[in-house]
Amino acid sequence: MNLPRLRARYQPNVVGAEGRDALMARFRAEAKRWSLQWRCVDCVYVVTSTGDCSLKWPNAWLRPDDPDVLDAADVPIFCKAFEPACD
Ligand code: SF4
Repeated sequence: MNLPRLRARYQPNVVGAEGRDALMARFRAEAKRWSLQWRCVDCVYVVTSTGDCSLKWPNAWLRPDDPDVLDAADVPIFCKAFEPACD
């Protein structure tokens, strides 16, 4: 199985003509405007004392205050296990 080739085939091009930097800036602005909760700090599974994930997912990308929303290959960074820690 050739994962990079499969990814190229099935991963939508989310950047498009807008460009990577503009897309990330727009995401950040909209996330702030709408109080989007999507990072570990907003998740019920985070260990608040350490910032680690109690489900043991690697979460370094979702821990910064203002994380990138695309990885180096322009693939969106998100966690499918995210559960909002609502009151
Ligand atoms: S489940 Fe995902 S969003 Fe929640 S703490 Fe773990 S890595 Fe972060």
